[in-house]
Amino acid sequence: MPQKRARRKLTKKQQRKRRRQKHAKERDKREEEAEHLRLLQPEYQKWLQEQQEMQEFQRLADEREHQVAEDSWLRREATAQQQFRIDEAKKRQEQEEVERLQQQQAKERAEREEILRRQREEETRKAAKAAAEFDAMMESMDEYLSNPRMEKPPSQLLRVMETHPEERACEFFSRTNCCRYGHACTFNHRRPMLARILLIRHFFNHSMLQERRPHKEYASAEEHLELTEQDLRHDYDEFFNDAVEELRKFGTIVNFRTVRNTVEHLRGHVFVEYTNERSALRAFTNLQGRYYASKKLNVEFSNLKTWRGAVCGT
Ligand SMILES: [Zn+2]
Repeated sequence: MPQKRARRKLTKKQQRKRRRQKHAKERDKREEEAEHLRLLQPEYQKWLQEQQEMQEFQRLADEREHQVAEDSWLRREATAQQQFRIDEAKKRQEQEEVERLQQQQAKERAEREEILRRQREEETRKAAKAAAEFDAMMESMDEYLSNPRMEKPPSQLLRVMETHPEERACEFFSRTNCCRYGHACTFNHRRPMLARILLIRHFFNHSMLQERRPHKEYASAEEHLELTEQDLRHDYDEFFNDAVEELRKFGTIVNFRTVRNTVEHLRGHVFVEYTNERSALRAFTNLQGRYYASKKLNVEFSNLKTWRGAVCGT
């Protein structure tokens, strides 16, 4: 019968349990009595105390060690955090510096562009002004040329153009209306916009006026040595008659002088003086840019004060 067997089994199990509990109780009681007896012994008491002291000592040592470890960890943590903050601050500073430089560059670029824009604007303004002045001047010239009742030239044609108004006058230019430095001269070249005298640069061209070669052995082969002063005179007379005939068409000529000088910037320059500005202006507008002896004429007005010093021949 399985039920009976199971009940028996359970009963046996409970009996075993009760036995175990009884044994344990007896054992505890015995140990308690033994402990009680031991406690009465001074050696045991001393040993027990020593054990407690050792445990306490161990506990304190463990605690200290734990504290040291904790402190060390905290220190490392603090150091790491500080380093992190330093790195962050450095990164931020670098970033700020990059941004500052970028802003500065952008500002400088903008300033440069603004300067260029203003320069372009100024150039455009100047060009427009110059063009307007040129147109007005041309109009004045036309008016002056076509109206014989107008005795004096319009005031805007009587202006003087200056290359460096703030500098002192170029001595060469003042004396001869020519300067070896040309536009590169740093002194002031004063040029009238209109005058009675015209200067036609390098108008008279002659091989005898060429500068002499420095080597004597080659000089004999030069054409100009075979020419005489008489040849020069003859050729000049021809040129003179030719030129005067042409220049006379524009008005009465008072003076016709040619620079007999061999240096490049003076050679063959011709000054023509008319009785009035109108004739000179008429000659100027007719001759400028025309060709003579295969050379384009370069005509300008002259404010020569005296002939002496400027020219060497007539
Ligand atoms: Zn000069």
